Amino acid sequence: MGKKLSTYRKKRDFDKTAEPRGVTAASSKRLRFVIQKHAATHLHFDFRIEIGGVLKSWAIPKGVSLTPSVKRLAMLTEDHPMAYANFEGIIHEGEYGAGVVMIWDYGSYKNIKTDKDGKPISMKKCFEMGRIEIELKGKKLQGAFALIRFRDEKHWLCIKMRDEHASTKSVVSSRDKSAKSGKTMLQIKRGSS
Ligand code: MN
Repeated sequence: MGKKLSTYRKKRDFDKTAEPRGVTAASSKRLRFVIQKHAATHLHFDFRIEIGGVLKSWAIPKGVSLTPSVKRLAMLTEDHPMAYANFEGIIHEGEYGAGVVMIWDYGSYKNIKTDKDGKPISMKKCFEMGRIEIELKGKKLQGAFALIRFRDEKHWLCIKMRDEHASTKSVVSSRDKSAKSGKTMLQIKRGSS
């Protein structure tokens, strides 16, 4: 909660005024996200978002879709350190997740999930509830996406929410180079060996 709005708030009774309470520092602050294309045993995309100082991570076999009617399976994996967002290169044979890792997209996100009164819900709470709604500002991806838990702890769905950035085109196949280096998967493989 920022001190900046405390004077503004002290002067107002938000049960009585229709003025906005204003977003808290926590929800207006842009946090980091990264999507890494990972050619491991099975090709997948690791979708990672900063929550509570770590990168909460999901493996999305098909990558994200820009089409709101398409639900992409997202399997929750272990938390990764923030520094992992900068990793592009090779995980060598014999190591866990061996294969090429590309920074397919990266940028910042904003938590847009609110309760029915329009109050922001913290990312930590959203994660616990299994309902995350975020607005991405990446090199490739823009706009609102939802991550919705179903069945059990590990199974989630990644869904493009309806906004002006929704589209029927496949961003995964049309934008297949690194958002960081501009390299292809093959160039990353060659460059690191
Ligand atoms: Mn992976």
